[in-house]
Amino acid sequence: MARRYTGHMNGERYLANTRQGSREVHDLDNEKTGTNQCQINEIINAGNDKPYNSLDAAKRDGYDNCKWCIGNSTR
Ligand SMILES: [Zn+2]
Repeated sequence: MARRYTGHMNGERYLANTRQGSREVHDLDNEKTGTNQCQINEIINAGNDKPYNSLDAAKRDGYDNCKWCIGNSTR
């Protein structure tokens, strides 16, 4: 898969899931598309996508690493 130009996304590398109870950030350059992995399209379709150009910025906003595409999740 690849970077998106749908929903709130305009080609940024990182996508954060704003849904309560998720609050994870994904690296679209390393997206994993297996069942129950990143589910990027589902996030966008639900309107919960928030774009970031840097992982540090997403983490400053309180997002945790996706364990599939970034790793080292702190949960
Ligand atoms: Zn991910």
